[in-house]
Amino acid sequence: MEKIPARTDPADEVRRWVIPGESRVYVLTFGCQQNEADSERLLGLALSMGYGRADTPEDAELILVNTCAIREHAELKALSIIGGFKHVKEKNPRVIIGVCGCMAAEPHRVEDLKRRYPYVSFTLEPAKIASLPSLLAGVIRTKKRAFLLPDEPTAVPPIDEGIPVERLSRHKAWVSIMYGCNNFCTYCIVPYVRGRERSRESGEVLSEIKGLAASGVKEITLLGQNVNSYRSDCDFAGLVRRIGEIEGDFRLRFMTSHPKDVSDDLIACFGTVPHLAPQFHLPIQSGSDGILRKMNRRYDVARYLSIVERLRARDPAITLTSDVIVGFPGESDADFEATLDLLRLVRFDAVYSFIYSPRRGTPAAEYPDPVPPDVSRARMRRLLDLQCEISAEKNRPLLGQTLRVLCDGPSPDGTPGIMTGRTAGGKLVHFPAPEEVAGTFVQIKIDRADAFALRGTLTE
Ligand code: SAM
Ligand code: SF4
Repeated sequence: MEKIPARTDPADEVRRWVIPGESRVYVLTFGCQQNEADSERLLGLALSMGYGRADTPEDAELILVNTCAIREHAELKALSIIGGFKHVKEKNPRVIIGVCGCMAAEPHRVEDLKRRYPYVSFTLEPAKIASLPSLLAGVIRTKKRAFLLPDEPTAVPPIDEGIPVERLSRHKAWVSIMYGCNNFCTYCIVPYVRGRERSRESGEVLSEIKGLAASGVKEITLLGQNVNSYRSDCDFAGLVRRIGEIEGDFRLRFMTSHPKDVSDDLIACFGTVPHLAPQFHLPIQSGSDGILRKMNRRYDVARYLSIVERLRARDPAITLTSDVIVGFPGESDADFEATLDLLRLVRFDAVYSFIYSPRRGTPAAEYPDPVPPDVSRARMRRLLDLQCEISAEKNRPLLGQTLRVLCDGPSPDGTPGIMTGRTAGGKLVHFPAPEEVAGTFVQIKIDRADAFALRGTLTE
C-alpha cells in the first residue's frame, strides 16, 4: 500500500529553519491604524514560529514590509525603502523579504515586485495574513519566490480568528471589528485591495476587549473602514453599548465613520455609554455637493451638518475631526471655496487634508478635468492656514483647565523630561513628568494651547 506522507505543520517547518536566539524579524509599517493592527498580527505570527525581534532590518532574517496604497506618495516611499533592502539580502542570503499590506493586493504592483525586485521573496495581501506560515514554509522548502495573484475584489475572504497578536503598546490597543469596504468612493483603492466588508462576531470582539481591560489596557480603539456599517448579532451602536458594560478603567474610541451610516442610536451613545471618549472622526472629503456626488459619497453637506448638530447637542465639547481631499478632478474654485466655508461653519478641532492622488483601477482616475498640481498645492496651503487658525481658536478655551490625560510616554521629539499624552477628546498634550507616569492617567493643568498641541503641568 502506498504510504501517505504525514502532513507537516508549515509553522513547524519554519521553526526548524529558524536559528534560536539568532533569527529575528523586523516589521516595517506604512499607512493607517488598520495596518498597525495588521503588523501586530504579522509580528505575532513570526514570533510564534520562533523568530526573535530585530531592532533594525540589518539585524533581521525576516523582513516584512506592511505597505499602504492609499496615495502614490506612500507607494513610492515603500518601494524606495524596499529597494534599500537589496544590500541586506546580499550580505546575508538567509534573509527573506516579504511585501505585505495593500500594495501586495494590487496586481500591477505584485508584477512589478516580481520583475524588478529579485530579492523580494513573497507578497502577502491583507486578507490572507493567516497564510504567512505556509507561504514562508513554501519559500524555505522550495527556495522559490511566491507571488500569489491577489483575490478578485468581489471576494469575501473568511475572517481568521485566533492569529497571535504581539501588541506594541501595553496601555493602548487596536481592535479590528471588521475588514474590507463596500463603499467604492470613486477615488479610493481600499475596496479593491481589502475586499468586501465583513464583520467579526460580536462575541469575539467582546472577549478580546474583556481580556484587554482585565490586563489593564487604558485605551481601546475599534477599527474598520466604516465601523458604522458593522453587523453581526447587533449593529455598531449595539456593540458600543455592550462594550460599555465591560468593567475596567479604559477609554473607548473608534474609527472610521462614514456620514451616510451614522445612526441616531450611535449619537445617543455619547454621554451615556461608559468608557466612550468624547471624540468623533467623521470624514467629509469636500464641502461641495457636486464633488461629493462625483466621489460617490452618498450624503450631502446638509446631511453632514445635521449629524454635527446632533452630536454637539449631545455633547457641546465633543472633539470633531475630519478628512478632506483637495484637487479632486473637476474641483472648481467655487467647489473649493465651499469646502473652506464648511470648515468655517463646522469649526473642526483638526482636519487631515490630502491632495488627490489618482489610483489605478478606480473610477476617478479616468475622470476628466484634473486639477493642475500647483492649483491643488495653493488650495492646500489656504486650507491648512484656515484650519490652523480654527484649531488654535478651538484649543484656547482649554487654557487653565485641568484635564485627565493618558500618558503615552516620552515626547517623540526626544526633549528630555517631557512626556506626551492625549485628553479624553484625543488632543495631544506635552508636559514635564517622570517616565514612570507612562501608561497611566494623570491630571494636567493646561498652560499653553497651540493649534496642534497643548502644554501643561502635572497637578498630582
Ligand atoms: N474608510 C475611511 C474613510 O472613509 O474615511 C478611511 C479611508 S482612507 C484610509 C483615509 C483618507 O485618505 C480618506 O478619508 C481620504 O480623505 C484619503 N484618501 C483616500 N483615497 C485618496 C486618494 N486617492 N487621494 C487622496 N486622498 C485619499
Ligand atoms: Fe475608501 Fe470610501 Fe471605503 Fe473609506 S468608505 S475606505 S474612503 S471607499
